[in-house]
Amino acid sequence: MDIQKVISNFERNGYKVSCFETAAEAADYLDGAIDGRHVGFGDSQTLLQMKLFERLSRHNRVADPQHCAEGRSFTDTAKECLTTDIFLTSVNGASETGQMVNIDGEGNRIAGSLFGHDKVYFVLGVNKIAPTLEEAVWRARNVAAPLNARRFQLKTPCAVRGDRCYDCSSPDRICNGLIIHYKKMECVDMEIVLINEKMGF
Ligand code: SF4
Repeated sequence: MDIQKVISNFERNGYKVSCFETAAEAADYLDGAIDGRHVGFGDSQTLLQMKLFERLSRHNRVADPQHCAEGRSFTDTAKECLTTDIFLTSVNGASETGQMVNIDGEGNRIAGSLFGHDKVYFVLGVNKIAPTLEEAVWRARNVAAPLNARRFQLKTPCAVRGDRCYDCSSPDRICNGLIIHYKKMECVDMEIVLINEKMGF
């Protein structure tokens, strides 16, 4: 993969791009850039791996559905995340041509990535990048979603068999919406934090 070409394609689509060799460097960067703000998280294994909730909480007001405060539900916390200054999330797939793909079951993650914040950060490892948009969608559906279903120990065929999407009708289905970010949304500042490591699913 020609990473410089990937960066150029994202930039052509309106995103600022910051690129780091390691997750630790990316975490340091975000910890320095986000200070004294109200911050919301979209569910993300990448952000968990980077321990960004713990770091940012020291000097920001942070809401994360994966770290609900005592007495607060997932839904309460996820709703707060839609009204924060800053929103951080990852993606399930991206393409060398400069698009990003996310699948969501509850909708909080894709909703937060589109509107209402001063700035959205998309934090992703290079393992998420496929050559084309079609392959990025395939990756999101057949790699990321099954691994996420397995992470949450859901009773879906993809989680049980761990190989691909079965386009299931399971009550536990996590693939209820799919968003393609063709270009940066008009009213929101958006930055991609690209990490030259395998991060998340
Ligand atoms: S649609 Fe169902 S089988 Fe396919 S990835 Fe989503 S949860 Fe798994």
